[in-house]
Amino acid sequence: MGFLFLQKAQALEISNLYALYQQYPSVQTDTRKIQKGDIFFALKGPSFNGNSFAHQALQSGASFAVIDDPEFKTDERCILVDDVLRTLQALAQYHRRQFNIPFIAITGSNGKTTSKELVTAVLSRKYRTYATEGNLNNHIGVPLTILKIRKDAEMAVIEMGANHQREIASYCEIALPDYAIINNCGKAHLEGFGGIEGVRRGKGELYDFIRANGGTIFINSDLDYLQEMAAGIENRVSYGSTNATYTGSVSDDSITLHLQANAPGYTIEIKSNLVGDYNFANLMLAFAVGNYFDVGRADIKAALENYHPDNSRSQLVEKGTNRVILDAYNANPTSMRAAIDNFAGLAGSNKMLWLGAMKEMGDAEAAEHQDLVEYIGRWDWKSVILVGKEFEPFRGKYHWFPDSAEAAAFVSSEKPQHSLILIKGSRGSKMERIYEVL
Ligand code: ATP
Ligand code: MG
Repeated sequence: MGFLFLQKAQALEISNLYALYQQYPSVQTDTRKIQKGDIFFALKGPSFNGNSFAHQALQSGASFAVIDDPEFKTDERCILVDDVLRTLQALAQYHRRQFNIPFIAITGSNGKTTSKELVTAVLSRKYRTYATEGNLNNHIGVPLTILKIRKDAEMAVIEMGANHQREIASYCEIALPDYAIINNCGKAHLEGFGGIEGVRRGKGELYDFIRANGGTIFINSDLDYLQEMAAGIENRVSYGSTNATYTGSVSDDSITLHLQANAPGYTIEIKSNLVGDYNFANLMLAFAVGNYFDVGRADIKAALENYHPDNSRSQLVEKGTNRVILDAYNANPTSMRAAIDNFAGLAGSNKMLWLGAMKEMGDAEAAEHQDLVEYIGRWDWKSVILVGKEFEPFRGKYHWFPDSAEAAAFVSSEKPQHSLILIKGSRGSKMERIYEVL
């Protein structure tokens, strides 16, 4: 494998930098968070140039500052490279190569963070596991995650997010995964990927890497398109509702998901704190990974039952006399339908649907919002609130507000009681503002 296609001189630069990193094994890209000894990487953003903060980083205690603009070389502790971002990525790859432990990569359209956290919770019962923190899943987050892995590591779990082609391939080159999971390919980031076929190609770059370099995939047997995408990959561990080594089924109709999970030789009941039957796949993945790596069944059960989602992801919260499924973290056509189907299937009446617009839809924006409004029309809801200009054409049909602040004002005057409420929308719709006034 190439060194991220670096020139010889650059490769030398990386091994020298790596020697410094071993002495100062903490990397920081934000001067406000500098701790003594951190190596500062002066990244460029759309509206800032990290180089101009290098001096400040050193004054705040950074051991070195990696810069790519000679104008800002104020000090011998400034290390001048061709490109700070590529240097960060190459350093991460170099660090990755020092480990001979399982590196597990997770991508997909929906549920990456949730499944990454479930898998990490299960593996941590037996192994020293390092994983992506929060949602640091992009071209900066992936290398930063890797550079946080310490010598004692026994497992690494890396979330990879993408909204255009060649992104996952480039993250694979840094993380060199030997285990891979594509959760699903749905209608998310359609703009950047160019339609659903584009999403499959883009996420499929993870399988392509395994196909070319060897490794094992964990594959959801319920998704036919994944079987097609995985053609040619021999080593597979399957999970799903049927036709898999690890199977499961939803065991009762409580709001939080309870399931019966079967491994060869045993069955356990798992009572999770996650809402939404779409989390079945996320839980089954973690069950399969735990079994594959010989985590004991009691530990798998405890890890999955003790996991509580946060950050408005599939959370069930009681607010006064209302129960709220707060899923305001993100939304796209696939995750919207999954959440609405699940919500419609829950026992009880007095159901309210408060939906925020879906972002990054590109040309599909108008049609996808129209389809969604038609979709929710299949059921009778106690009330429906739609938020965002994308929903404006349907203002005569349901309550409509241009933004969540106006919707929140409406909700605080209406004061709903004894209701079951689903709140979902893209992060930009800020739907949690409505939840706050309940
Ligand atoms: P991001 O692209 O922001 O990193 P993600 O893929 O990490 O998102 P999560 O943060 O785990 O996804 O979950 C976000 C939301 O996606 C959840 O709150 C839920 O509504 C939905 N979701 C989670 N898992 C699935 C799934 N398997 N299928 C469909 N929707 C899902
Ligand atoms: Mg995520």
